Amino acid sequence: MKSEIFYKNPKSILNKGTGFLSGYTHSLNPYTGCSFSCSYCYVRQMPVSLFREGGQWGSWVDVKNGAADILKKEIVKAKKKGSVTIFMSSSTDPYQPIEHKETVTRSILEVLVETPPDFLLVQTRSPLVCRDIDLLQQLREKVRVSMTIETDSEIIRKYFSPEAPPIQARIKALQILADAGIPTQVAIAPLLPSGEYFPHKLKPIVNRICIDDFFLGDGSGGKRTKKIGIDKKFIELGLEEWYSTCAYKIVYKRFKEVFNEDQIYLSQAGFEP
Ligand code: SF4
Repeated sequence: MKSEIFYKNPKSILNKGTGFLSGYTHSLNPYTGCSFSCSYCYVRQMPVSLFREGGQWGSWVDVKNGAADILKKEIVKAKKKGSVTIFMSSSTDPYQPIEHKETVTRSILEVLVETPPDFLLVQTRSPLVCRDIDLLQQLREKVRVSMTIETDSEIIRKYFSPEAPPIQARIKALQILADAGIPTQVAIAPLLPSGEYFPHKLKPIVNRICIDDFFLGDGSGGKRTKKIGIDKKFIELGLEEWYSTCAYKIVYKRFKEVFNEDQIYLSQAGFEP
């Protein structure tokens, strides 16, 4: 699906960290909307999507004009009040395809290098994040790139999120980030069916794993996801046992056999600063 691009002039760019992100002082979304359009995206059930006229989630993206200039002022103000920890992003992917052209996320990182927060988590599933290694390196230990890899199966990935980058490209990006000295983690979020060899594929490139599922991590105990009807996709695949509050335990056990226990985080704990 091709997304229609709009240009908006927001009044603010830093939002207060609440709910699942209450460990952060702020969240930051360089765009509204997301052309990766994942079928399971919980944002589909949030007001930003529900009350949008003229187009389903994924069919539109708002580019936030002047985001860097707004951030310059807001971060100085925020830092005067104390520690500043930023989650980027909670309801869009900061490195979705339009970022190639618009570079809103890059302009935001430039501001954050000039006026660093105490911590920045960059949440993405796009290898485009590697373009900004020069800036991420300047943030040193104050940044962590969290790369979503929900499954090791390209068939499953294509079934649930055909517009998102291939799994192998994400794994390669993680390797590039690690080689550049950028702190990273893998977010198996939301947990999708995966194979027994999944932990072994990640072991050489990452030492921090966060496992999250539809029930722990959609901010509503799984209700938002249920409304989307994602359970039907699992039934179509004949993999309904993976749409369960217990499925994460299988994956957790597999990872525990390969990673140290203190390298594996569950749900919210894995995204904390
Ligand atoms: S990349 Fe994230 S924000 Fe974008 S559609 Fe997928 S889950 Fe939603």
